[in-house]
Amino acid sequence: MEQSGEQAGPYACPADQRTRIVATIGPASRDAATLRRLVEAGTSVFRMNMSHGSHADHAAVVRTLRGLEEELGRPLTLLQDLCGPKIRLGDFPGGEVFVTAGERLELVCGQGPREDGRIPLPIGDAFAALEPGARVLIDDGRLTLHVESVAGEVAVVRADTDGRIADRKGVNLPDVALPIPALTDKDRDDLAFGLEQGVDWVALSFVQRPEDLHMLRELVGDRAGLVAKLEKPSALTHLEAIVDAADAIMIARGDLGVEIPPEDVPVAQRQIVRRSRAAGKPVIVATQMLDSMMGAPRPTRAEASDVANAVYEGVDAVMLSGETAAGDYPVGSVEMMARIIERVEADEQFRGSLDAGHPQPGATDADAICCAVRRIAQILPTACCVTWTESGFTTLRVARERPVRPILSLTPSIATARRIALAWGVISRVVPDAADSEAAAECAARAARDTGIAEGGDALVMTAGLPFGVRGTTNQLRIVRA
Ligand code: PEP
Repeated sequence: MEQSGEQAGPYACPADQRTRIVATIGPASRDAATLRRLVEAGTSVFRMNMSHGSHADHAAVVRTLRGLEEELGRPLTLLQDLCGPKIRLGDFPGGEVFVTAGERLELVCGQGPREDGRIPLPIGDAFAALEPGARVLIDDGRLTLHVESVAGEVAVVRADTDGRIADRKGVNLPDVALPIPALTDKDRDDLAFGLEQGVDWVALSFVQRPEDLHMLRELVGDRAGLVAKLEKPSALTHLEAIVDAADAIMIARGDLGVEIPPEDVPVAQRQIVRRSRAAGKPVIVATQMLDSMMGAPRPTRAEASDVANAVYEGVDAVMLSGETAAGDYPVGSVEMMARIIERVEADEQFRGSLDAGHPQPGATDADAICCAVRRIAQILPTACCVTWTESGFTTLRVARERPVRPILSLTPSIATARRIALAWGVISRVVPDAADSEAAAECAARAARDTGIAEGGDALVMTAGLPFGVRGTTNQLRIVRA
């Protein structure tokens, strides 16, 4: 049974926590009691990693979370993470070979198993894209091979260092823009399952170009938001177009840190965060955030600083992977992350740091109004900013402003309420449709009191699009009293 650390204790995500926590669910956390504790500790978004677990395992998690949602009366967000075209070596006899630095070996296109000593690399037509000089990284970059020559379906490669090659190990080809489909047959099958389960977000791994997201959009329609996982150098080349094509971004530093040098990852992270914040798309920083908590009750100082720096940068969410999926301290990891977030957001330098990355508003009605919301929340002692939203658009534009007060997002759509809970500073609630601005103001006052964000008489700055029910029309601004 997991024990909380010395300073740990139940930490219910307070209205004042702006940065959201994404927790990956796995064997260490998929039972109902642990899921409840993860919610209580401050998790907003639950990630189902389709690289692991059966559909039955994931369906059970969905059932439990939807039940908890009903009981708690607040939306919980489900994110399905598709594997994408992750490349793995095929099978070969013995299951492993050891190579020495400078040794040459042959990769052959196909699945294997091979009796001729060649290592199978099942990438189909993309094999032809291998060129002399290209790197072939095995097992998260533990071994680097360089292609020396390619003839038909055989590539001669040379090992940079001593190392072990085991079958089914992951392969990264950072120098090759792979002409392979963004979705595998497994992804399509997993996607059909996820949509049937009503996931709120679908994340696509190894996005290389905006067209990968267009293809996914055709399959998903508006049934879920699309998260682009940035983990390929080619995705950084097309960063602007990919951010535009996605609804949210994940900085998947695990594979990214294999495909690009580790020293380039922090720079790439900053570029991606800046671009995503400018576009007003939620951005998640992922992988190894509290990695040592897989087996220890406290993180390293460097890990605590990593989480803190992401919060100072103004990211929408920070993510836990193995820590919550398979670690010894799933709840303790979320509690720790929540405490780091709380500590940073209470720091007087936090606001200055957020403002340093504040994007200019666009010359649109919506941005002019959202910019005014931000100013009003600074000038008046308001309890919160209230956004009425159909599609989530108004809420996201206000979140882009990173206002000083929390954003109470109200919508009649449960799908929108769940999806938008990923965004910075957003407290999301489902409310009945409002007939007019007066009814909206009354409902906002009630919701602000009910959630405990406001007390009777507090000022709220409310924005909405009229007529209600039409997407993307942010044209109203009012100050109302709770
Ligand atoms: C990553 O590579 O950082 C990542 C989040 O993806 P996955 O966990 O699927 O490897």
